[in-house]
Amino acid sequence: MSEAAESTGKKLYEELRGKFEKSFTPESIQVADKAFNLANEAHGDQKRKSGEPYIIHPIAVATILFDELGMDMPSIAAALLHDVVEDTHYEIDEIREMFGEEIALLVDGVTKISRVDISNREEQQAENLRKMLIAMSQDIRVIIIKLADRVHNIRTLQYVPEEKRRMTAKETLEIYAPIAHRLGIRAFKEELEDKSISFLDPVAYHDIEDRLEQQETQRTEYLENIKSKIAERVHETVKDAKIDGRIKSVHGIYRKMYIGGKSFDQIYDIYAVRIIVDTVVDCYNCLGIVHDMFRSIPGRFKDYISTPKQNMYQSLHTTLIGSEGIPFEVQIRTWEMHRNAEYGIAAHWKYKMGRSDRDVDNRLVWIRQMLESQLESDNAGDIVQDIKSDLIPEEVFVLTPKGTVICLPQGATVIDFAYAIHSAVGNKMTGAKVDGRIVPIDYVVKTGEIVEILTSSQQGKGPSRDWLKIVKTSAARTKIRSWFKKEKRDENIIAGRAELERELRKSNIRLDDEKAQQLLQTLAEKQHQNTIDDFYAAIGYGGISVSRLMPQIRDEVSKLQASSQPVVSEIKVTKPKKSNGEGVVVEGIDNCLVKLSKCCSPIPGDDIIGFITRGHGVSVHKRDCPNVPQDIKNCVEPERWISVHWEETDSQGFNATLVLSCLDRMSLLADVSVALANMHVMIHSVNTRDLKDGTFGIYMTLAVNNAEHLKSITARLMKINGILKIERTGT
Ligand code: MN
Repeated sequence: MSEAAESTGKKLYEELRGKFEKSFTPESIQVADKAFNLANEAHGDQKRKSGEPYIIHPIAVATILFDELGMDMPSIAAALLHDVVEDTHYEIDEIREMFGEEIALLVDGVTKISRVDISNREEQQAENLRKMLIAMSQDIRVIIIKLADRVHNIRTLQYVPEEKRRMTAKETLEIYAPIAHRLGIRAFKEELEDKSISFLDPVAYHDIEDRLEQQETQRTEYLENIKSKIAERVHETVKDAKIDGRIKSVHGIYRKMYIGGKSFDQIYDIYAVRIIVDTVVDCYNCLGIVHDMFRSIPGRFKDYISTPKQNMYQSLHTTLIGSEGIPFEVQIRTWEMHRNAEYGIAAHWKYKMGRSDRDVDNRLVWIRQMLESQLESDNAGDIVQDIKSDLIPEEVFVLTPKGTVICLPQGATVIDFAYAIHSAVGNKMTGAKVDGRIVPIDYVVKTGEIVEILTSSQQGKGPSRDWLKIVKTSAARTKIRSWFKKEKRDENIIAGRAELERELRKSNIRLDDEKAQQLLQTLAEKQHQNTIDDFYAAIGYGGISVSRLMPQIRDEVSKLQASSQPVVSEIKVTKPKKSNGEGVVVEGIDNCLVKLSKCCSPIPGDDIIGFITRGHGVSVHKRDCPNVPQDIKNCVEPERWISVHWEETDSQGFNATLVLSCLDRMSLLADVSVALANMHVMIHSVNTRDLKDGTFGIYMTLAVNNAEHLKSITARLMKINGILKIERTGT
């Protein structure tokens, strides 16, 4: 290694090391020394794009973590080592041996995140990617180190070639700044955003900077003036309130101008005054005071104390108008909220000691629980787990070789992954590689893995039935089934038939051909299948489970066997009229099973006739249904055709005619009749006509029991999209 490189590194490290003594024990500092020495030696003569020795980068990252976030020694040591595994000949196992499990895990996490190639992804992937990166860091400190790494990289991004610079800036703006925001680390978030914008849109960025600079003296004066006015009044009541003033970040202004479409002068909160106090009560006191001093802009007050933001940010926000008519924002918060707002999750390490005032604010449950579990267990791992499970639901995030992030439920396999990309990929899948290695087809994917699906273009190859038992997502299952349904109908019929026969044999069910045919017909009908072949096919592709159907099959079989004797002769013509749920009265039979047939779906009012089936009651057909013989007296089994009629609605029932004014919508009439059928309301007549005002009217006469009934019908119909008004008419 050149002497120059060595001495630059040493000098920078000594500077950082000098600040350690107040915070760390001599033993801890020795760990840092060891980490620095190893990194310094490992990076050797490597150079950054700026031409400087590489070692200044890890030192800078460690310095950011220490100076700006007050992170602990394992984080600082890991920061010093964070590029060693990625960029030098050292392996993670060597780091583990020299520095122990904790530091090795941190280094390994940062290395893994750096290896995720996210340059190629699509727009909507950003949120998934963010989640994935957080999930990948088994220890939340990993992501904090990665953020510090990014902060230093973006500070020195001007040395990187144009194209790479844009890519890094974009990635920072879309992925890392939002993560910093999510973790509540404001300083990182603002710097990452500002610097990214300065590279992505330098003209606009410098325009804003110029505008801010133009009247810098006036701006500073204005702000100072407001601050001192507020301080004077606030300190009368709240003695040790701290009052700060600042000018909004360039990115914040940029967003409002270029995304929010506002002009520079329309941005209210270029100026922000911050009041920090000890207690929540003081927050509201201060709010009262400033509202008394200045006129406030309506609709701009936000109470994030009672309703914290998702990242646990808490403050009172209000916008006021100063003496010269210039608006400014005021943020009021307690010290605890302030620390949380500035450092977010990192506040946990920075302020781990000396918390008090627990009654002040019991809304910071999240942070509190974190701190409490710290007290109890003294185990950083638990806390980190809590934070993580708070941030990450039960999902895994897996990458395609091109960097698209696929989000799957915990436990999903490579098959689920293939179908999540596209059903065509799943259907042609022959195997999978995870991180370059061939894996079994039931391999369960883990966050951060890169999965490549091997496919065959060979026609006729398709998913295997066994996959239905392997997949975790219902999306994959549905797609596999629909493949079998479509592509393999013949095969499905054979497979379904074989499976059914196997089950019947297993249950010792034997039927002669005629009975078997009847059984199948009944089962198919009950499963809403048009033909017996459809029924077989549905079993074949897994849409119908035979084992789940078995109780019903046994039921039908025993009915079939019981009905071996003709039933018809036993029917005596006696008193009718008993409800059987379908609203049909079978003349002469009390309380018998009645089914409205699927072939013609008779509705109340239709002319109907009944057919005594073998074993499952009376099926009701429309008189003009093609399945009903025209000449019953001379048909095959005339004795099985019996007369039935619709049940009287209600003896006190009456007809009501309604006019439904609607927008002209094709399916509306269908929606209305479906709704009425669901309520078992009989429609006596219906017709439609154009109303003069451009709407059209449905005139319908309904059978209703009473006024209460009519009211509930009307209320239900009003819920149908497109119905404007319902009136009752005399006719
Ligand atoms: Mn780095």
